[in-house]
Formats: sequence, C-alpha cells, structure tokens
Amino acid sequence: MSYVDEVLAKLKEKNASEPEFLQAAEEVLDSLRPVIDANEELYKKEALLERICEPERQVKFRVPWVDDEGNVQVNTGYRVEFNSAIGPYKGGLRLHPSVNIGIIKFLGFEQIFKNSLTSLPIGGGKGGSDFDPKGKSDREVMAFCQSFMSELYRHIGADTDVPAGDIGTGAREIGYMFGQYKKLTNKFEGVLTGKGLTYGGSLARTEATGYGLLYITNELFKDHGDSLDGKTVVISGAGNVAIYATQKAQQLGAKVVTCSDSTGWIYDPEGIDVELLKEVKEVKRERLTAYAEARPSAEYHEGRGVWQIKCDVALPCATQNELDIEDAKQLVANGCKAVCEGANMPTTLEATKYLQENDVWFIGGKAANAGGVATSALEMSQNSERLSWTFEEVDSKLQGIMANIYKNISEAAKKYGHEGDYVMGANIAGFEKVAEAMLSQGVV
Ligand code: NDP
Repeated sequence: MSYVDEVLAKLKEKNASEPEFLQAAEEVLDSLRPVIDANEELYKKEALLERICEPERQVKFRVPWVDDEGNVQVNTGYRVEFNSAIGPYKGGLRLHPSVNIGIIKFLGFEQIFKNSLTSLPIGGGKGGSDFDPKGKSDREVMAFCQSFMSELYRHIGADTDVPAGDIGTGAREIGYMFGQYKKLTNKFEGVLTGKGLTYGGSLARTEATGYGLLYITNELFKDHGDSLDGKTVVISGAGNVAIYATQKAQQLGAKVVTCSDSTGWIYDPEGIDVELLKEVKEVKRERLTAYAEARPSAEYHEGRGVWQIKCDVALPCATQNELDIEDAKQLVANGCKAVCEGANMPTTLEATKYLQENDVWFIGGKAANAGGVATSALEMSQNSERLSWTFEEVDSKLQGIMANIYKNISEAAKKYGHEGDYVMGANIAGFEKVAEAMLSQGVV
C-alpha cells in the first residue's frame, strides 16, 4: 500500500463522522501523489502527512447569550488552529446552523494550502459556530458575538491567530467581535480582518474574494487565447463573494444571468442588476423574491437550479457540495468552458472529475478564492505599519497575487506532467512550501 493510501485509510478510521473533512483530505492527498511518491521515504519517516492532517490545536466552547425575549440560548463555538508552519493561523469564522467540527476541519485544512498559495506568510485555521444570524436582531447578534469572543480572545492574537469573516460573518459581526476583544485585552491590534474602514479595515477587502475570482478566471482565458468579454456567466450565491464576482465579471465585459440563496434562485437574461442585488442582500437583508419583485426581466424559482442555464463560465459562490454530478453533466451538455470556485469545495469530487474529463477548465477554490485571504494578509500588513493603502494600491496588489497564483498552479501541474490540471497544480504548489517549512522546523 502506498504512503498516501495508508494515511487515507487511517484518516477514514479516525474521522469517520467528519465526511467533509475526509472529502477535502482525499482530494488533496490524491492529487499530491506525484510529489509524495517522489519523496515517500523522507515524508514517511517524518510522518509528514499524518502531521499535516492533524490540527495543531482545536478548541470547542460554550457560547451562552440572551435573546430579545429574555431566554438564554446556547450555541457551540469552534476554532481549529490547523497549521502554523509558514505564519500565524489565518482563516474565517463561519456562523451557520450547519457548522460542526468536521466542517470547520475541512475548511481549516483547505486554508493551509490556499494561504500558502498566496505567497504571503500565513498559516491555516478556521472557526465558527452553529449560531444563525439570519432573522436575529442587531442586539441578539451583538450578544452572541460578545459571548463568542469572551472565550475566543484567549486563543487568538495579531501574531498568533487572526480570524476573519466567512458565511454569516460580515462587517457587523466582525465589528462586535473586535469591540469585545479590545475591551477584554485592552489592546487595539490587527487581531481580526474584514474590519470596518474607520478602525483598521482595508479598502478592497470587501470586494477581494469576488474580484480575485474574476482576476484568476481572466488569466485562465487569456492563457487560452480567449477573454471574458461577451461571455455568459452563471453564479450561485448572493452573498459577499457572489455580489463582487458579479460586479467584476460585468466590468470585464461578461453577462452574469443568475444568482441564488438558500431558498431559491434568479434567472435574469438581461444581466443581474448588481446595485439592486446589493440593496436587497446587503442593506435590507431580504430574500431574492424582493429582487424579482423589483426587476421585471427576472424570474424567481424556488429550490436550486442555476447550473441548468446555458453558459460559458460557471462560478459557484455559495457553499460546499452545491454542484454535483448531474449539474456537471448539464454544464458540459450546455457547452460550458470553465468552472472556477468562489466558494470552498462547492463541487463534489465526482463532479470535478467529470468536468476535467470533459475538458472543462477547472480551478478549485483553494486558488480561485484565495484573493480574500490574500487581502486579509494585506490588511494585517497595514495594521502592523499603522498605515492605510488606497483602494487602487490594494486592488493592484490583489491582481498581481492572483496572476501569480495562476502562473504557479499552471507551472506546478506542468512540472509533474499534468498540464491543465489546476486542482493538482494548486495542491502541489501550496503543499511544497508548507512541507519544506515543516521539515525545517523539526517534529513539533
Ligand atoms: P455569505 O454569507 O455572504 O453568502 C453566502 C451565500 O450562499 C448566501 O447567498 C447564502 O444564502 C448562500 N448559502 C449559504 N449556505 C447555503 C446552503 N447551505 N445552501 C444554499 N445556499 C447557501 O458568504 P460568503 O459570500 O462570504 O461565502 C460564500 C462561500 O465563499 C463560502 O464557501 C465561503 O467559505 C467562501 N469564501 C468566502 C470568502 C470571503 O472573503 N467572504 C473567502 C474565501 C472563500 P442565504 O443568504 O439564504 O443563506
């Protein structure tokens, strides 16, 4: 049995109740086979894969808070500090009822390689809670965030672990958490990213994941002698990533015709009105039915369905496993050329394989959505310098980082004889740097 298979078998035995983590580990380890086979003796002796798959530390804690009716509610909080070989742990906080330790571990594991790919000095971590901010009053969200931070503060710090936003954690939640951290520690420091602009946030951080996704998609098309101009794009989600992906796609001349949320989806053949979408989702926090009511060209459908729409480019920007094998078959049948992941692991393993086998250019989330964490690292730099860079400065650095990621993942795939396999390229390019750092630092 090869070293990879041995480690995968042990992982399955040990983490049987964490399917998302196993899925992420299998995807990464499987695609690293060429590198691992070439270094098998050393890596096995050092138990490198066993170490990389085991979080350095994970904390699970009680988060009690009082709702508007005066009832005490209890949620569970998590922070998984996965790997600090190349820098302080860095990764978002997810607030969603589906959150459990397996989901946080899968996200933290992916984050190690994604952060490495940005070429910035950040390790991998992730956290969150099964709290659902949807439908809660601002006071209830504040009560939850303060209670969450009352435990989390002792585990994080500007040079230790720097959390950020993710699903359900936007500027409002980060603000409440930062306020509580400052009160408890008496320190004003860059301990969270995604902060408001008046207290240390970075310009362009809000836009960064969606913009970065389009910058790398644009590089992909350029590299194939094509462009995004005039292309039809389908996007899922209607949150932070989806909104700014839509905006940048339109700026690059493409037409985005869909968006979705957890209850339904919009088909708007005239092109999504991004200002209206922002008003509905960011300001009024309403369902997508409100978009359809305000926009005569739009159709609203219950459930899921964006991948049925004929397109040149598909950008899943909502959540994990939202694009399955049937969706992949539909995309291929409709002549889709490229799928680039804005969300984390939105495409199932089976669907990814099918797309790749059918010559769809596929860039996984580790590379394609790395613009968010890269800009978070730029926010950390600005906080350390106590300076604020202009929007243009940050945006231009982001473009450079995404172009560099594209170059690195293409070259890594080519070097190991798998040209055009950007999933393998991303895993290899991300892994090599972390592996070298871990080996240099000894058995810790
Ligand atoms: P938001 O909370 O802003 O938006 C998430 C969107 O996805 C919403 O439209 C939401 O609908 C929808 N959604 C969430 N869960 C489900 C579900 N189970 N089924 C269907 N739809 C769902 O999150 P972000 O835009 O920040 O994050 C989207 C994805 O991108 C996540 O995978 C995240 O990990 C990833 N990501 C985000 C980064 C960032 O900088 N924000 C950076 C890198 C990756 P509804 O409103 O109805 O819940």
